[in-house]
Amino acid sequence: MAAPLPIAPADPDPSFAELLAARPHLSMNALDGLMVEGVPLARIAAAAGTPTWVYSAGALRRRARALQAALVGDGLRAGIHYAVKANTSLAVLRVLAAEGLGADVVSEGELRAARAAGIPGSAIVFSGVGKTERELRLAIAEDIAQINIESAEEAAMLSAIAASLGRTARVALRVNPDVDARTHAKITTGRSENKFGVAIDDAPALYARIAGLPGLEPVGVATHIGSQITSGMAAYRAAYARLAELVEALWAAGLPVKHVDCGGGLGIPYRDEPAPMPEALAGAIKASLGRLNLPVMLEPGRWIAGPPGLLLASVVLQKQGADRRFLVLDAAMNDLVRPAMYEAWHGILPVGPVDFVSPVAPADVVGPVCETGDTFARGRALPSMTPGALVAFLDAGAYGAAMSSTYNMRPLAAEVLVDGTRFAVTRDRQSYEALLAGNRIPDWLEERSP
Ligand SMILES: *Cc1c(COP(=O)(O)O)cnc(C)c1O
Repeated sequence: MAAPLPIAPADPDPSFAELLAARPHLSMNALDGLMVEGVPLARIAAAAGTPTWVYSAGALRRRARALQAALVGDGLRAGIHYAVKANTSLAVLRVLAAEGLGADVVSEGELRAARAAGIPGSAIVFSGVGKTERELRLAIAEDIAQINIESAEEAAMLSAIAASLGRTARVALRVNPDVDARTHAKITTGRSENKFGVAIDDAPALYARIAGLPGLEPVGVATHIGSQITSGMAAYRAAYARLAELVEALWAAGLPVKHVDCGGGLGIPYRDEPAPMPEALAGAIKASLGRLNLPVMLEPGRWIAGPPGLLLASVVLQKQGADRRFLVLDAAMNDLVRPAMYEAWHGILPVGPVDFVSPVAPADVVGPVCETGDTFARGRALPSMTPGALVAFLDAGAYGAAMSSTYNMRPLAAEVLVDGTRFAVTRDRQSYEALLAGNRIPDWLEERSP
C-alpha cells in the first residue's frame, strides 16, 4: 500500500494558473470556461461527448516550426521525421505533413497511416526491432527513404527480399551506444541490455557486410536512446559522440555514410520539470556531430505531439471514501494509460469557469475500470465537482490515444482537431457494433442451457 500523501507536500503541484501560463494554446474564459485556441471545451463535449481527445493544430504547427528553427539556427541540415507512434491521428499527421515533416514508422499500420495522411514514401523512415517480411516488402514497394536495420539477421532478411524483387533498399544501421538516458526504465532504449540496435563495437563489421549484400545500399547510421529525456543533454552528447567516431571509422574503411539519424526522445515538462529546449538538442548535435558536416535526421514524437493534446473527461460522481475523496471520471486507464504504466503525472484542469476558481482540496482522480491501477492522480488539489462537470488532462497528445485499449469493453474515445475557431471530429467514438465486430461464436458451441 502506498503511504498516505502528506497534507502539504514539500513540493506543491503547480497551480491551475501556472499550468495554463505554460501552455499558450489554452486559456480560461470567464463565460465559456477552458478553451483550446478559440474553441470552448464545453462545446466540444456537447458535440462529441466524453471522453474525447482534443488536439490543437496551432500548437502542433508552432512546435514543428520551433524545432525546425532551432536546427536551422544552429546551421544544421536537418530533416525531421515525426515518430508516428506517439500520435497516429491522420488529422495530426496531415497538420505535420503540411509543415514539411516526414514520418518515422514502426509498423505496417503506421506506414499506411503516414501514406493515408499524404506523407510520401520519400519522407518515411521505418524503425523497429522486429519488422516482418510482409512489412519489409511493403516498405520496398513504397520506396521509402530509409529502413533502419537493427540486426545482422534483419540485414540478411531485407537483402533477400530486396534482391528477389530486383530492388535496392536504402538502409541505416541502428546502433546501441550503451548510454543511460536516465529516463523511466520502460522507455530507455540505448543501454546494451536493451533489445534495440546493434552494439556499437559490432557496427563497423556489420556495416561493411551490408555494403556487400545484394539489394542493400547503406546510407547512414542511426540511434535512439530513449524517451522523455529531461535530464539534460549529457546522454545525447555521449551517444552522438560515439556515433561521430563510428562514422569516421566507417569513412576510414572507405564505406559510404551520407547522414546520421539522431532519433527522438526529447522530453517535455508534464509537471514543472526543467525540460530541455530544442535549441539544447540542436547544440548537442552540433557539438558532437558538427565536424562531420553531414545532414542529420531527427525523430521526435512526444515533443511535437504531447503538449498540443488533452483528454477531455466528465465527472461521473464524487465519492467520499473512508479517508479521502474520489473524483470518478468517465475516462479510464484504457484511454490514458501513462499514469498506470509509468507513474506519470498529468496536469488536470477543471473546464467550467466556476469550478476553475472554486476552493480546492485533495482528491484521488480515478476511472471506472476494475483495477486499483486505474488511478490518474492521488491527493490532487481540485474543487468539489458535480456529475457532468468536465476536466481536462493536459499534455496527453503523445502516447495517449495511441496507447489506448478497449479493456473493460470500453470503446475507443473520439478525437477532435481544433484550428483557431474551428473544430472537427477527426475520429468517431468507436461504436459498440464495431467493438463487437469480428467476434464469432463457433456454431458447434451449445447455447446456454435453460
Ligand atoms: C519512439 C521512437 C521515437 C520517438 O520517441 P519520442 O520520445 O516520442 O520522441 C523515435 N525513434 C524511434 C526509433 C522510436 O522508437
